Amino acid sequence: MLEFAWVPDAPTSSLVYGRHNAGNEKLPYCYTLLRGHGKSILLDCGVNYASHGREFMERFNVQNWFSPNEVLAEVGCTPEEIDHVILTHAHFDHMGGLELFPNATFHIQQEELAAWVSLMALDRRFRWLLTATDTGDMLYAVQLAREGRMRGIDGDVDNIFPGIDVRIARDTHTAGSQYVLIRNDGKSASDDVFVYTGDLLYRHDNMHGGVAGDPMYVPVGLAFGSQTKLVFATHKIMECAGFDMRRVLTPHEPAMTSMYPSRTTKNGHYLIEVALAEGQQSYV
Ligand SMILES: [Zn+2]
Repeated sequence: MLEFAWVPDAPTSSLVYGRHNAGNEKLPYCYTLLRGHGKSILLDCGVNYASHGREFMERFNVQNWFSPNEVLAEVGCTPEEIDHVILTHAHFDHMGGLELFPNATFHIQQEELAAWVSLMALDRRFRWLLTATDTGDMLYAVQLAREGRMRGIDGDVDNIFPGIDVRIARDTHTAGSQYVLIRNDGKSASDDVFVYTGDLLYRHDNMHGGVAGDPMYVPVGLAFGSQTKLVFATHKIMECAGFDMRRVLTPHEPAMTSMYPSRTTKNGHYLIEVALAEGQQSYV
């Protein structure tokens, strides 16, 4: 898991539902690299500090951004080597980096793509719905679709790549958010599963509500869909992870660094090594 930027002062109320007047906290921005079987796959692709992406980053006070060139160099990889990107959803901090991976094919839920295009076509009064969605990214996504480099996924799919499954969580954080199951042993009945949540969860608090010994799901503060559906999606995520919080990979959670080997890069970002292939050198 590779941090590439952060927001120093994200409102806590946006991260955990109901935590109003609780101040601000750091929100790391991150994407995650999977390597194996000769392929390099990225989960989400960050944001591009250029043109329309820069406007969004200024609006949300995104700081300390570094390009994928520099971020991936920390783990001996380049943007050109990325074969595929699985997009959990279309918000600017997850899909804003489309232009930075010239050889990648992108994979998103069909419903996610379609929903944003429909919302863009509404009257200006509805623009809150586009709060975290860069319409410039959507235009580029459609261009990529035309070129065959943006592929739509139809709901739940097993083995989208060997050992990797996607699950849709409709009408939750966004219309067609998806989470990613990584079966690290490649077995269909795996006992070595990791779940990459995208923004269905922001914080560990979303899994336990901060209630020690008596966990309660508390959804993220920013749901464009149903909070109830988000809570049920959280339960499904927990089931897939065997209710082991360490198996739930939440890119916006700074405490991930204490759960797995990690280090701080020269740019001040976290780098977390969740699992190493046999014979693979550690980058921590
Ligand atoms: Zn996000």
